This record gives sequence, C-alpha cells and structure tokens, in this order.
Amino acid sequence: MADALPNQPSGSQKWMLTASKAKKQLLEKAQASPPQRIADGVWLIRGGFPSKTMNVYLIEDEREVTIFDAGIHAMAPAIAEAGARMGGIRRVVLGHSHADHRGSAPALGAPIYCHPAERADAEGDGGDHYFDIAKLPPHARFLIPHLLQMWDGGPVDIAGTVTEGDEIAGFRVVEIPGHAPGMIALWRESDRMALTSDCFYTLNPTTGLKGHPRLPHAAFNLDTEAARASISKIAALEPASVWPGHADPLTSDVRRQLEKAAATT
Ligand SMILES: [Zn+2]
Ligand SMILES: [Zn+2]
Repeated sequence: MADALPNQPSGSQKWMLTASKAKKQLLEKAQASPPQRIADGVWLIRGGFPSKTMNVYLIEDEREVTIFDAGIHAMAPAIAEAGARMGGIRRVVLGHSHADHRGSAPALGAPIYCHPAERADAEGDGGDHYFDIAKLPPHARFLIPHLLQMWDGGPVDIAGTVTEGDEIAGFRVVEIPGHAPGMIALWRESDRMALTSDCFYTLNPTTGLKGHPRLPHAAFNLDTEAARASISKIAALEPASVWPGHADPLTSDVRRQLEKAAATT
C-alpha cells in the first residue's frame, strides 16, 4: 500500500503547503500591525513596508466598525480580518482619495464614502493629475511614482458623500481642503480627538524620517496655501490629540505645534 492516497498531499507536499501558508502570513504581518486601541472605541492599524507609516483607523460603530482612511492595497487582508473580528465593516470613509489612502478600499467589500469634492478623484486617478513630481528631490522623482502605483488599489465606487458637520460613528466631519480638494478630518468633542488624514505630516515623505509636524509636501498638494489654512482650522479646535494618516500623532501642546507648522513650514 502506498504511503499516501493519491488525492492526499504527501509529507513533503504538506510541508510545502504549510511553508507557503506561513510565508503568506509572514508577508501579511510585514505589511500591517495588529489593531491597537488608541482611544475609546478607536483602533489603529499601522501598515506599509518596511516602517509601517500608513495609518488606518477603525471606529466602533453600532456593533460594527467604520474604517477611516484605507491605507495601501497590501494592508487589505489585515484590515478585513480586524474588521470581521470586530463585527464586520459597516462602511469605509476616505479622508481623501490618494493611492495610499484608498489602496485597500476596493478589496474590503463595504460601501465607500468621501467628500463630494473628492469623488471624481476617488473614482478616477486618485489625484495623480495634480501631483507635481518635479517638486520632489531627484531620488524621489523616480521612486515615488512607482510606490504610488504599487500602493494603489485602483478606482473605487463611491456609495455616498459626507460634508462639514455630518456625524460618523460619534465623530463630526471637518472639511480640510488643500492637500486634496475634498479632504476631511473626523473630530470628537467629548475627548477632543481628531483623525486628520494628510492635514499635516510628522514624517518627511522624501526620506521616510519622522520629525516635527509640517505641511504636506507641495508635490502632492492641490493648493498648499489652502492646506496651511486647514492646519490652522484643526489647531483652532484645540484638540487634545491629532492622529494623522502617516507616522505618529501629536498628543501634547497640540494647538501650539500645529500653529507653528502652519506658520513656519
Ligand atoms: Zn495624500
Ligand atoms: Zn498620505
């Protein structure tokens, strides 16, 4: 009698299957950290290779979760798994439509929302038409267009739109145009928490180095002066914490730090 029935995997085949499953899990782990609870009802998944500087927020919402910003395409399995464990993904709300914020959205199987001024880009090229790559330093001019392509999940279908003051899972929509035409933040008065997408950066996008809060890079802004005014708008809310679309939050002296970023960067 043969060691293994013909339709069952042999020992070495089993090992290969286990190894390839482990490799897939390792790759997925490399792309995203497990969700971390950052405030009442709010969770953060950090993703992207190698330094996990893409932030996706999961907000508990009527026994399900609302996703705010969808990170990059490779984060989709981690976001889907976390969403399923937390009762299912009710909806995805895009802070804005750039490739690194809509990337996982088409793979999550939930209705997707954004601001009306962002809709055409979310359903189109992700804002690529106003990027000015010539404003980047030479090394980044070659690299970043490739990264954007790799991060993107492609155009999404927008199920509906949200505007200033709309309520989303206990937060209110705040319009912060400039970096993108219809960028939005979410603001919760009760603990003065803001989720701010790409309103400001605590990261230099051309080197990957973390640092002080600053304007988003002009190469990716529709209107840098409007982006500056939007930082001041968030500062004036006097937040206790602001959680950006990339890298680290600001959790102390927030108003002064944001005012300084608007005035000096
Ligand atoms: Zn952006
Ligand atoms: Zn971004």
